[in-house]
Amino acid sequence: MKHTSINRLSFIFLTSLALAACGGGTDDGVDKGGAPTSVDATLATLPLETLSPSETNTLLYMREEEKLAGDVYSRMDALWGHSAPVFGNIMLSEATHTDAVRQLLQRYGLPDPAGNSGVGVFQNPDLQALYNQLVTDGSVSLIEALKVGARIEELDMADISKHLANVDNQDIRLVYESLLRGSRNHLRAYYQTLLKQGGSYTPQYLNQAEFDAIVNSAMERG
Ligand code: ZN
Ligand code: ZN
Repeated sequence: MKHTSINRLSFIFLTSLALAACGGGTDDGVDKGGAPTSVDATLATLPLETLSPSETNTLLYMREEEKLAGDVYSRMDALWGHSAPVFGNIMLSEATHTDAVRQLLQRYGLPDPAGNSGVGVFQNPDLQALYNQLVTDGSVSLIEALKVGARIEELDMADISKHLANVDNQDIRLVYESLLRGSRNHLRAYYQTLLKQGGSYTPQYLNQAEFDAIVNSAMERG
């Protein structure tokens, strides 16, 4: 592993961590803070470990799943951004998420499934179908779009949690744990905005107790 790549990943991470809290607690969904943490420093010290087939699969999948989140929010921001900046803010955070996974792919010499894909284009057919459905659902109204946001964050957390059971490489775990924190913050932001808009939400992938524990707790720092 070249030192320069580690530094680059560290940079992406710091950016990601600063953005992970975006969307929380304020009316416009913007968090101005984001104290640096030791995660970026930790990542630079981690070894390049042997990659298992399941670890490879999770990286390929998560690269496109994080891209899906950003691409859907981009479409929702174009439709509803004038009344809800939350989509645009979280879209920026997702760009750092998918790029963090891309950096891991690069670190391990794996091909990037999202390398040349434009917005809304995916190699994984399941994710392509999901993207199409979510954009259709979120185009109905702002409230439906906010529900789509919450649903994506739930799915993201469910998938990452499942993947973490098959990942022991420290660098991948560090990234995935950070993505999870980001998703919890995003879920809080979408849910709070949804309530302000007079909407309600039933969890789709988490159980009600898990969902309540997240949305009723404070925004997290990196
Ligand atoms: Zn994400
Ligand atoms: Zn997210």
